[in-house]
Amino acid sequence: MKAAEIRKKFLDFFVEKGHKVEPSASLVPVDDPSLLWINSGVATLKKYFDGRLTPDNPRIVNAQKSIRTNDIENVGYTARHHTFFEMLGNFSIGDYFKEEAILWAWEFLTDPKWMGLDPDRLSVTIHPEDDEAYRIWREKVGIPDERIVKLESNFWDIGEGPSGPNTEIFYDRGEHLCDPNDPECYPGGENERYLEIWNLVFSQYNHNPDGTYTPLPKKNIDTGMGLERMASVMQDVPTNYDTDLFQPIIQATCREAGVEYGKDKETDVALKVIADHIRTVVFAVGDGVLPSNEGRGYVLRRLLRRAVRYGRKLGVDRPFLYQLTGVVAEIMKDYYPEPLEKQAFIERVIRGEEERFLETLSEGLHILAQVVEQVREVGTGRISGQDAFKLYDTYGFPVDLTEDFAREHGLEVDREGFERAMEEQRERARAARQDVDSMQVQGGALAELEVESTFVGYTRLQTDTRVA
Ligand code: ATP
Ligand code: MG
Ligand code: MG
Ligand code: MG
Repeated sequence: MKAAEIRKKFLDFFVEKGHKVEPSASLVPVDDPSLLWINSGVATLKKYFDGRLTPDNPRIVNAQKSIRTNDIENVGYTARHHTFFEMLGNFSIGDYFKEEAILWAWEFLTDPKWMGLDPDRLSVTIHPEDDEAYRIWREKVGIPDERIVKLESNFWDIGEGPSGPNTEIFYDRGEHLCDPNDPECYPGGENERYLEIWNLVFSQYNHNPDGTYTPLPKKNIDTGMGLERMASVMQDVPTNYDTDLFQPIIQATCREAGVEYGKDKETDVALKVIADHIRTVVFAVGDGVLPSNEGRGYVLRRLLRRAVRYGRKLGVDRPFLYQLTGVVAEIMKDYYPEPLEKQAFIERVIRGEEERFLETLSEGLHILAQVVEQVREVGTGRISGQDAFKLYDTYGFPVDLTEDFAREHGLEVDREGFERAMEEQRERARAARQDVDSMQVQGGALAELEVESTFVGYTRLQTDTRVA
């Protein structure tokens, strides 16, 4: 079953259950300074959950594009994590509650008319004190006791405001994927056997300012299912990257680089990271974010530079990522027309960024190799904050790129030292700006230029790649 069909079936199923389809919103949060990116389906519906607005229909269903950077280190290594993914969700704003939410999730997953999964392959986790959820799973659905796992962590709480227990649904991808004696081999543990596909949150308490919890007068349901994960299950493939959402991107990269997917582990990691990051970049630029040195723009820049560097590992040293824009647009166009509509613009942004970074990448990698060599000789196991800063400042290496490289060589980066060096630079910039002001030279542009020139000076190469 193609991913597009899963998405459609999910929406159709919940429309049959009286839900209204809410279109996917921009990745850039509106009126929500607490979030850098929309990171889940519920993030765009907060206005209903916190009572600011009342929806026409208390039952909502959506497919929401989401960005999560907290999972970045897993990308390319686990079968299931992305920086950009789609979350399918059904929501109840003070309408139906636990029983319907659980029974409908089960129906959607197991009924042959919908996903038709083998019920024996499904297990769930619940909060230890959530007797109601236990009873519904055990008695109404009929899941055997040993496949209902109680986890203290199954409680959704973001501080003050609505909170409550949750239940997660896992698909068993096969016994061979973890040793039953491994303490992490259970649904919810760190393993590749039990794949979390769906999370149902029962927001039933208010977390009060004094730390107590009181029942909410109107209880809500908030669920999220990862489309890419569901696609890997429905297409019976080992990872999300083997689905129709990623394969065309990976194959296009293979053609460009002259490599094959599925032959060599390191090559596959690079192909996966590139496929993941390009989706994020295409959608973020499509939603109006441009590479820069702070906030969302810097996330974008980091992802692009990381992808460029993985491209280099595959032997590609010319701009190529921009050409994948069309591939992504083609895969996603049914539900998300923006990448296709803005293809030329997105390509231009990506290409410009690739060209700029490629100017300093070779030299930076050369320096980095020398640094690694030195660290090995000294035996500290750690790249200094000063070196990481120099790579950032002179060669445009985001610190996580240096960390990737370090990790590949069994080393780490002195992150604190790096942050200190950054702070010192900011101080110097502030001081320089004050000097300029006090001399009453022309303001604005010239002052900025003066400030920039105080940053350089480590090596003969003084290109400042940090400036867009
Ligand atoms: P995991 O434990 O696997 O990291 P999670 O519990 O952090 O997932 P939730 O916040 O519950 O994830 O999100 C709801 C659903 O969205 C998950 O059940 C999963 O299917 C999907 N999902 C979450 N994070 C990612 C990600 N980084 N990449 C792809 N899908 C994701
Ligand atoms: Mg997670
Ligand atoms: Mg989880
Ligand atoms: Mg979860």
